[in-house]
Amino acid sequence: MRTKCASLSLVRNLTIYRFMKYLPEYLIEYIIFHELVHIIEKNHNSRFWEIISGKYKDYQKSEKELFKYWFKVSEEVGM
Ligand SMILES: [Zn+2]
Repeated sequence: MRTKCASLSLVRNLTIYRFMKYLPEYLIEYIIFHELVHIIEKNHNSRFWEIISGKYKDYQKSEKELFKYWFKVSEEVGM
């Protein structure tokens, strides 16, 4: 089980890495911050978004943009 979890997180990190090179710098910064907050708070609960909004007041805009990029990139690279 431990091995399975580790490899799943590796796949996830590689996917994020491949995805990030298509993004503008401010969205990369946002993703890094988002991932760092997950170290403190695993789930997307109210506390999570509270921490995010402390640094990114317009985080909903960034999330929406990421979503758009995600579709665009996954079509291009066939993820
Ligand atoms: Zn998240």
